[in-house]
Amino acid sequence: MKAIIVGGGGMGLSVAWGLARDGHDVELFERGPLPNPLASSMDEHRLIRHPYGDHVGYARLIDDAYAAWDLLWHDLGQRLYAATGTLALTGNGADWAERSAAALATIGKPMTELPVAELRHRFPQIEAKGVERAFWMDSGGVLFAQDIVIALARYLASQPHVRLHPHTPVRSVDLEQGRVVTEAGAVHTGDVVIVAAGAWANRLLPGFGRRLVPSRQIVIYFDLPAADRIAWAKGPMIIEKTGDVGLYLVPPMEGRGLKVGDHEFSRSGDPMDERAASKDEIRPLLDRCRSLLRGFDRWRTDRLKVCFYTVTDDERFVVEKPGARGWVMSPCSGHGFKFGALMGLELARTLITGRDAATHARWAAGLEATAPT
Ligand SMILES: Cc1cc2nc3c(=O)[nH]c(=O)nc-3n(C[C@H](O)[C@H](O)[C@H](O)COP(=O)(O)OP(=O)(O)OC[C@H]3O[C@@H](n4cnc5c(N)ncnc54)[C@H](O)[C@@H]3O)c2cc1C
Repeated sequence: MKAIIVGGGGMGLSVAWGLARDGHDVELFERGPLPNPLASSMDEHRLIRHPYGDHVGYARLIDDAYAAWDLLWHDLGQRLYAATGTLALTGNGADWAERSAAALATIGKPMTELPVAELRHRFPQIEAKGVERAFWMDSGGVLFAQDIVIALARYLASQPHVRLHPHTPVRSVDLEQGRVVTEAGAVHTGDVVIVAAGAWANRLLPGFGRRLVPSRQIVIYFDLPAADRIAWAKGPMIIEKTGDVGLYLVPPMEGRGLKVGDHEFSRSGDPMDERAASKDEIRPLLDRCRSLLRGFDRWRTDRLKVCFYTVTDDERFVVEKPGARGWVMSPCSGHGFKFGALMGLELARTLITGRDAATHARWAAGLEATAPT
């Protein structure tokens, strides 16, 4: 089989990996350098964790996601992950952590409730103002995202059946015929075309414009005093929701930065726009950090990073086959990276074995307990 992949982020590279390890021909087109610093996958880290609110389907897929990463570490010859455990905090009417704990209990993965009074003893770096309940889980950690996509691109470049085309934007795709046309006018055909174009997807697939909405998101990297950095380098990852501004905190594992972001979808902006952010935009997040993190007034903002992903209304992934020879692969809504290796392997398996496309789409949407057989 010959597959044409549009987009060299975590998803495009992962499906290329899945196909290449089975000896299939792959041509991958990337509009920028490979990997592209503007891609959603190109940040120091992305989190992986079992707690998933009501989305029990995705919580159930986390063990499979870990198994897929293990296979990738084997192929790459390096493990680009650090375990942190997961601390979920909630209060002021929010109940994401409670709902996560309830959903996980139904699949035999209980979280442990920590009395809030104990939080400061166990995690002295946390102030926890406004926190009413806390839940802990030993699993969860940090995927070193940009190192993963760099290593994956390098691995694929060494594979005999893979041809990578950086700096080659695709202008149009024909998912019925299995054909793409580049900006330069070159035509390429394959047995299948996979559009894994991240926040740019609906430029190539206008029919998906209402479902895949680009969303501009800002994260903050902090410069910490040395003692705080040492404390945070042992974790934990925090997923916090105590009212208007919920945040997640990524600890500075293995020399990476400490990062904070929120999960409020802006549903605005264009990935081609200038990527500047102002302090005004992050003020609510900074205020929440001040209440939650001990010694926060000594922290300095190191840099702001603007990033784009697509959002769907139900936050489920879109991995569908809208044409006889074409797929769209958009594990989006800000939670796709953790499933990159798994989504790549399973889509490759479906393409290779001819598994049912509709069942695959439901599985990727977190609506089927197991991958199609
Ligand atoms: C701030 C932020 C925090 C996040 N946190 C997490 C997290 O903690 N855990 C988690 O699991 N996920 C997280 N995510 C989501 C995750 O990063 C994305 O779901 C994932 O990286 C998407 O990968 P992708 O390959 O689909 O898209 P991208 O990485 O954006 O790759 C798409 C690629 O397609 C290329 N392209 C586009 N159009 C064309 C064209 N016409 N021709 C050729 N190439 C083209 C682009 O240049 C780009 O390189 C987060 C995302 C953001 C932005």
